[in-house]
Amino acid sequence: MNSPVTHLEDYDTEQRFKAIVVESERITPEASDVEVRELTLELQQSDFELQLGQSVGVFSPGTKEFGQEHHFRLYSVADLPERGRSGLPRIKIAVRRVSYVDKYSGEEYPGVSSNYLCDLVVGDIVTMAGPYGLAFEVPEEIDANLILIGTGTGIAPFRAFVKHLYKNVPEWKGTVTLFHGARSGLELLYMNDERDDFAQYYDREAFQAFKALSPRPSWAAPIDWKGALAERGEKLWSLLGLPNTYVYVAGLEKMRGELDDAFGEIAGSEQKWARRKAELSAGGRWVELLY
Ligand SMILES: Cc1cc2nc3c(=O)[nH]c(=O)nc-3n(C[C@H](O)[C@H](O)[C@H](O)COP(=O)(O)OP(=O)(O)OC[C@H]3O[C@@H](n4cnc5c(N)ncnc54)[C@H](O)[C@@H]3O)c2cc1C
Repeated sequence: MNSPVTHLEDYDTEQRFKAIVVESERITPEASDVEVRELTLELQQSDFELQLGQSVGVFSPGTKEFGQEHHFRLYSVADLPERGRSGLPRIKIAVRRVSYVDKYSGEEYPGVSSNYLCDLVVGDIVTMAGPYGLAFEVPEEIDANLILIGTGTGIAPFRAFVKHLYKNVPEWKGTVTLFHGARSGLELLYMNDERDDFAQYYDREAFQAFKALSPRPSWAAPIDWKGALAERGEKLWSLLGLPNTYVYVAGLEKMRGELDDAFGEIAGSEQKWARRKAELSAGGRWVELLY
């Protein structure tokens, strides 16, 4: 397993390779004001090896007048890698087009890399590096309990992970409880009316998927993690007390505090939750991919 790296400048980006855009598809409904695109990239790197949960690095052109040669950003791999007709590996990434408000000027600016990626068309060439980061590992115990919690584009690595589990690990007998958080139902990636990739597992007895939404999406109210987790609070708390329960979390940084609050209520106190989480983390049974 790789060691966690927290600063983008710490990543080793010497080994770069090119990738060709093979497909770019919007995966949020047109009715949603959030645009997430799934890009299929054919990597010009035949020996590319990936562990599930890892991310790839993308270089987008920098602003020369500011002395920036490029911008480097990470994106989770959203599906199991495949090989195209040429035999080269193909990966998918799900990119949310973001903008941010400059805290000094108050003006809204488009995010550099996400807009670069969302504007690419088939045949365009991208410079990349990686893969990087911790893997979400399939536990050694084949009857383990997995609790997967993803927000927004944080669902991408779990899509690949769950597919791998059911496709490539035939001996797997454990349970999978997936929580997908989004501002509104329209933003539930791979779990909306147009693309419900997780539907193929709904008939598996041991697979369950739940949604956590914002009660007032247009007011930018936070996702109701407390409500979504409390509904299954007793079950979750008993699972978290078992030695073969693993929790994997992916999405934006702010999830950490929101989940701590929600689990704190289930546990009965902040301290009780902090102790349980520390035990899980120490045993590699609480793994976070937050950005
Ligand atoms: C390990 C890792 C994996 C990642 N995986 C993905 C992924 O699978 N898909 C993806 O779209 N992004 C992912 N990101 C975020 C990505 O690397 C970029 O930070 C993001 O695309 C914004 O870059 P930018 O250059 O467009 O915006 P910048 O010009 O850097 O502006 C950043 C602004 O966008 C906000 N922001 C960043 N990411 C998001 C997001 N996903 N949703 C809402 N607001 C956001 C930030 O809070 C900030 O305000 C990941 C980051 C890390 C560290």
